[in-house]
Amino acid sequence: MTTIAKYTLVKLINKIKSKEISAVEATNAYVERIQKSKNLNAFVTLTLESALEQAKKADESNKKDGILSCAPIAVKDLFCTKNVQTTASSKILKNFIPTYESTVTSKLWNEGAILLGKLNCDEFAMGSSNETSAYGNVINPYKNNNDTLVPGGSSGGCSSAVAANLTSATVGTDTGGSIRQPAAFTGIVGLKPTYGRCSRWGIVAFASSLDQAGPMTKDVADSALMLDVISGHDEKDSTSSNIKKGDFLKNLKKNIRGLKVGIPKEYIVDNMPKAIQSLWDKGIAWMKDSGAIIKNISLPHTKYALPTYYIIAPAEASSNLARYDGVKYGFRAPGKDLIEMYENTRAQGFGNEVKRRIMIGTYVLSSGYYDAYYLKAQQVRRLIKNDFDNVFNEVDTILTPTAPSSAFKIGDKREDPIAMYLNDVFTVPVNLAGLPAISLPGGLDETGLPLGLQLIGKPFDEQTVLNAAYALEEKIGFQSQVKDWWM
Ligand code: GLN
Repeated sequence: MTTIAKYTLVKLINKIKSKEISAVEATNAYVERIQKSKNLNAFVTLTLESALEQAKKADESNKKDGILSCAPIAVKDLFCTKNVQTTASSKILKNFIPTYESTVTSKLWNEGAILLGKLNCDEFAMGSSNETSAYGNVINPYKNNNDTLVPGGSSGGCSSAVAANLTSATVGTDTGGSIRQPAAFTGIVGLKPTYGRCSRWGIVAFASSLDQAGPMTKDVADSALMLDVISGHDEKDSTSSNIKKGDFLKNLKKNIRGLKVGIPKEYIVDNMPKAIQSLWDKGIAWMKDSGAIIKNISLPHTKYALPTYYIIAPAEASSNLARYDGVKYGFRAPGKDLIEMYENTRAQGFGNEVKRRIMIGTYVLSSGYYDAYYLKAQQVRRLIKNDFDNVFNEVDTILTPTAPSSAFKIGDKREDPIAMYLNDVFTVPVNLAGLPAISLPGGLDETGLPLGLQLIGKPFDEQTVLNAAYALEEKIGFQSQVKDWWM
């Protein structure tokens, strides 16, 4: 059973399709591990019984159609799932049961995948450590001696579950790094597609101009396969692009001879651990070795990306989260009149980080401050995007570290929002510019913790990003070091 759960998604599907293993066997392999892994707290909601029932039906009727052919898959609890509780890891959405299915998840089920449950995340996807969840922090399957570590965030349940073999693959969301940073912290592959590549319909909104769904998987081929399934135009999301969908897995190739790879000097930051710099240097050497051409580039506005993000994202969040008032969804705290009910509901329903964002967002949008903050941030965002447009005249992809550190101890940064926000220095510019980027495990630091390398691409050129990652993956030869110590 344990071996089945370790298969890559591609391998698992092949074994199911060729009838080497049944859908029930496949599902059971994950169910057993999930039941023994409660300590990781990766799930908010489990749907194991219905998963097994569905697998049984598929075996009995011999219906295993679809690209994902009975692959058991859990998803971030930010995707609305019909008749299955969807909380965004917030108390305010406790017991919220959507009557509809998000486009991305409906694509998974249409291709035959089976839902295992909903994965824990930071509340409303705000955070970098999964510690802001109303359902408790998630634990990283990697640990440092006796210290338990964060799995990254906000898709921390996703990263922990993939790394611990509790799901064959998953989909997370990335507004400023929430797919890539947790992927880096847990030694898995995380892909943020181009803004508009995947529909946002039915995903609980955080910052609508930045949010994007994407795959989190064991390897690059699985990432390509998942992107094949979840991408595409959706008439229910006007920002989803009708650009032709790729055939990412089919076109995946390792030959990157002649590929031009940019190395941005602004990504060398103060106090960057030696292990990260040396991994980046190795990444450059591996790319050269594969026949790529390395070019030094400059993205001069990089240092403004984090401050810009922390104006735009809260501004959009403050507007998006206005809908949670105790009337339409989930939790309601009583009050003597309507206003007091609103106030009590929001005061008790939201956690501190979410409240902080709502306050910052409301402030930067308020009359008198709008021009100084929000409008200015929008202008700087354009400059950041222009930086990328310029360098993409010269290079095909950009190689950087994913995060400025490896996974840290639970509690270490909880009281220091600025330290927490710094986690996203290398990932946030990509969201501001709407670009695709992947994080893949590059190696381990001196304490045995995984570190990620990031490849950034031109808009809608996920194929180049995936191919470069595919080539790099082979050179790196990363092997999971997860030891099941929590079972
Ligand atoms: N860590 C960032 C934040 O807290 C990014 C979160 C995300 O990508 N959803 O906003």
